[in-house]
Amino acid sequence: MEIQIPDDLKPGDKVLVSACLVGEEVLWDGGHDLNSPLLAALKEAGAEIVPVCPEMLGGLPCPRPAAEPPRGDGRDVLAGRVPVLGVEDGSDMTAEFLEGAWRVVEIAAKEGARFAFLNERSPSCGVRQCHSGGGVAEGPGVATAALEAAGVRVLPGRD
Ligand code: SF4
Repeated sequence: MEIQIPDDLKPGDKVLVSACLVGEEVLWDGGHDLNSPLLAALKEAGAEIVPVCPEMLGGLPCPRPAAEPPRGDGRDVLAGRVPVLGVEDGSDMTAEFLEGAWRVVEIAAKEGARFAFLNERSPSCGVRQCHSGGGVAEGPGVATAALEAAGVRVLPGRD
């Protein structure tokens, strides 16, 4: 994937990055999705990386059950139209996903971050697509939707 660094990202800018893309072992299965080219491109641009994991910030454990909305995307979750449910047992994790999304928005505001690079297709961090309804839906994850509503520009941190 060619990393697209926005023209208006200036040296010293703080940029939120999904913690799993930074190499932190915070994925639902305990793994990570380290994206070294992304980190190198941000470093070259002089950005200061602020790692965030909305699902951990929302109080979920690691590892944790895979979860997704039964349909729709993160905007539908934010609007209360759909829940976020465990894929295996249907347990309701909507509150944790929402808490994590708002915590990430708070961090962006506190840090003055105007950009975020998040992990594509995650039900929280997905940018153009997110896991939903047993597949992949067009539309952002819950944290991405909340960041975008707060005026943060969210870009895919991987293909
Ligand atoms: S919520 Fe986002 S940062 Fe956390 S593991 Fe999932 S994709 Fe990575």
